[in-house]
Amino acid sequence: MRRRGALPAILLSLVLAGCGAAGSAEEETAAEEEEGTNQMEDLASLLEPVPSDDAYRTGYEIFVRSFYDSDGDGIGDLNGVKEKLPYIHDDLGFDEIWLMPICPSPSYHKYDVTDYEAVDPQYGTVQDFQDLVDACHEKNVTVLTDLVVNHTSSEHPWFTAAAEYLKSLPEGEEPDPNDCPYVSYYNFTRTQQDGYAKLTGTDWYYEARFSEDMPDLNLDSEEVRGEIRDIAAFWLDLGTDGFRLDATTSYYTDSGTDTISFLSWLNDTVKEINPDAYLVGEAWTDQNTYAAYYESGVDSFFDFAFSGSEGAVAKLARGKYSALKFGTALMAEEALYAGCSPDYINAPFYTNHDMARSAGYFTADADGTQAKFAGALNLLMQGNAFVYYGEELGMKGSGKDENKRAPMVWSEDASAEGMCEAPPGMDAITMKFPAYEEQREDPWSVFTYYKTAVAIRDAFPALKKGSTEVIGSLSDEDVLVFVREERGEGDAPVLAALNAAEEEKTVSLTAESTATPYDTLSAVLLTKEGKVTLKDGTLTLPARSIAILTAD
Ligand code: CA
Repeated sequence: MRRRGALPAILLSLVLAGCGAAGSAEEETAAEEEEGTNQMEDLASLLEPVPSDDAYRTGYEIFVRSFYDSDGDGIGDLNGVKEKLPYIHDDLGFDEIWLMPICPSPSYHKYDVTDYEAVDPQYGTVQDFQDLVDACHEKNVTVLTDLVVNHTSSEHPWFTAAAEYLKSLPEGEEPDPNDCPYVSYYNFTRTQQDGYAKLTGTDWYYEARFSEDMPDLNLDSEEVRGEIRDIAAFWLDLGTDGFRLDATTSYYTDSGTDTISFLSWLNDTVKEINPDAYLVGEAWTDQNTYAAYYESGVDSFFDFAFSGSEGAVAKLARGKYSALKFGTALMAEEALYAGCSPDYINAPFYTNHDMARSAGYFTADADGTQAKFAGALNLLMQGNAFVYYGEELGMKGSGKDENKRAPMVWSEDASAEGMCEAPPGMDAITMKFPAYEEQREDPWSVFTYYKTAVAIRDAFPALKKGSTEVIGSLSDEDVLVFVREERGEGDAPVLAALNAAEEEKTVSLTAESTATPYDTLSAVLLTKEGKVTLKDGTLTLPARSIAILTAD
């Protein structure tokens, strides 16, 4: 299956391409040897990862329950994540993981926490977490945990104590926080209002934006802020490198100003404990709203504008968006975020645990071309890019949330080692692409493509850190050419050229088109068999292909 060619042949052909006529015998040999080579893999094998020492990384989002089961009880666990670190880091090249909630919780998804300073026994122990963090740090992989402080579980002892107290209050008597401090931890009121749930057996209501099982915390309370400080310190002391902040738009549902002010407090509080800690906020709202959240000093916010089935990434991959427009949108958002915080780090992603997986909505995509191309568009964005587990296999899952969190398809055999049971209530899902064990051997699989895209990101820091400069004279509906130079000193600038069309396109790189002459073809991403060529400044891009050029 694997079609590995001799590297010298491909290198020779690249050199020859730039220098006109060569001896005919030599040319023939090169052409012959080239037959049967795979340009994408051959160039990728020459890439050297540049280890990151900052927050510009490539992150892998993991739903622990569905990832890898280390002890055979059918439920993924922290030791399972540790066992698969060679897959995550050594094979795929990710240097950051984000673990969805791992604290004790009555739900399968664990976004309703009952104890913030413990690990759910289904997932393991605090020691297991510590071991995972240590194993990650040995590989320069950072670990982010989910900080869910908009709300607790209704079974959290703070809430049950407050509820019991209110139930025991004689009619007409006002609650006294001196008798029960936890009544001030939540937003209780006697007035029924939108976003509030009735406290059974009383005439009280409590704020519960997501569900009655998830009472919202009173983030104005000094006591609650003290608890949050302790929770952050607990995880940072264990070596956690930062937090993904859940549901920030619900911190103060009706007030952007109060939200930004709380985010600012949270950012200061976390960084007082560890100045190197990294925060990325979930603000599932319009772009201008979350751009303003950067004023809080929080490092990153997920870039929702480019995500989802109708986002810019998916639309361009489907051919429903202009390539030039995509590039222009990148430049516009970088300027927008920089205007709110010069230190912003964008957090691109295009699917997550709340969204349909893309393989399901790219319906006319039997060979995975669109799933691959979209994956690359996400990974070529600047900042700290995230990939949701299983996207690198083109897994499917849509509709109810459980379907979006299906067990990782390591093998076609559901009883194979490490395979997890489906979350309760998940529909049966027929996957579109084979399991990992088959894809890893296939040079044209979604997996191999993703692996190459991450390798490219790891090899060229300018791609992660530089601002996008679209070369308008070379870009159009189908082709986007842009340059990234690192902000600050150091790594070489890169030029990326992508062809979003379903037919071959050529780009003429003239001396005038870029200030630096980009004359070396350093990496390519091919959605199907083909070859990118660069000859006398003419770059030929097969359908849905991407070329990375560097200056000599
Ligand atoms: Ca297990």
